[in-house]
Amino acid sequence: MRLRIGLTGGIASGKSTVAELLRARGALVIDADALAREVVETGTPGLAAVGTRFGPGVLRPDGSLDRPGLGKLVFADPQARRDLEAIIHPAVRARAAEIEATAPADAVVVHMIPLLVETGQQNAFDVVVVVDVDADVQLERVRDRDHLTTAEARARIDAQAPRASRLAAADVVIDNSASLAELQRAVDDFWTARVAQ
Ligand code: ATP
Repeated sequence: MRLRIGLTGGIASGKSTVAELLRARGALVIDADALAREVVETGTPGLAAVGTRFGPGVLRPDGSLDRPGLGKLVFADPQARRDLEAIIHPAVRARAAEIEATAPADAVVVHMIPLLVETGQQNAFDVVVVVDVDADVQLERVRDRDHLTTAEARARIDAQAPRASRLAAADVVIDNSASLAELQRAVDDFWTARVAQ
């Protein structure tokens, strides 16, 4: 039987790293962030809808999406953000379902969705896995990876759902506060307990 896993976690928590470990175990990983880019590629109905809503100003001369420009626009305008999400999110879900439909019936399918909790998808999966990280370690990892000041890193973290609401949505919590070796062990334990049955 198919097992559908929703994988989420805060910024720089280690979602991609966990997804990679699950992929190595044989899971099909569907990355919502990658799909969110795909559905507004040049020539897609998604990009046409964005152009209709936001005007030609969000397109580059070659017809592709001016991502930073659109980003600034929706950052400053909550209604614009909701409108953009109303275009992108359904398209991402449709594409994810399409990809999942190509998997064998007994596949382990991992949907990696950074905004799983924010978009209310906590009940859409057999298992919701939250990658969790100690707050100080997370701050350090965001700062180092994205070359930010501590204040900038904190602002990025604060823009997401609070850690507690992600944890409340979790069926399984994978802690990634320590080394990569320990993370690997935690993923192995999860696989043994919840997947390989
Ligand atoms: P985002 O959603 O913000 O792109 P993510 O949740 O997918 O991030 P990763 O990209 O897996 O997180 O990891 C974030 C950063 O932290 C990376 O630079 C990664 O190399 C590093 N990292 C992840 N796990 C560990 C660990 N256990 N020890 C040290 N560094 C780690």
